[in-house]
Amino acid sequence: MRTDETRNLADAPEASEHNHVDEPAKSLFKPCTKFLDQVLHAFHELVHVIQWRLLGPDRFLLSYANGLECFGYRQSPLEAMAHDAETAFASSTATFNVEKMVAAKLGW
Ligand SMILES: [Zn+2]
Repeated sequence: MRTDETRNLADAPEASEHNHVDEPAKSLFKPCTKFLDQVLHAFHELVHVIQWRLLGPDRFLLSYANGLECFGYRQSPLEAMAHDAETAFASSTATFNVEKMVAAKLGW
C-alpha cells in the first residue's frame, strides 16, 4: 500500500526518467511489507504449534502427513486451517484468540 505522498512521487513524470525518485519511494515500504510478511508467517506457524500441542505429536504428524497425501499441501486440513486463520488475522483488527479457533476447528 502506498500513501498519497509516495504515489505522487512514484507517479510523477520524472519518476520514470530518473531512478532517484523511484528508489526512495520503494525503499520506504519494502521493509514494512517484509515485516508484515514475517508477522503473517509467524502467525501461520503459531497455528501449527497450537495444532501440535492440542493433538500431540503422534496425531499431529499422522494428520499432517495424511492431509498432504490425500489433499495436497494447500487443501490439507491442517494447512487450510492455518491459512484460514492467517487470512482472518490479516484482515481484522479485532482481538483474535487463535487457540480457541484452532481448538474449535479440531472439535475440542
Ligand atoms: Zn503451514
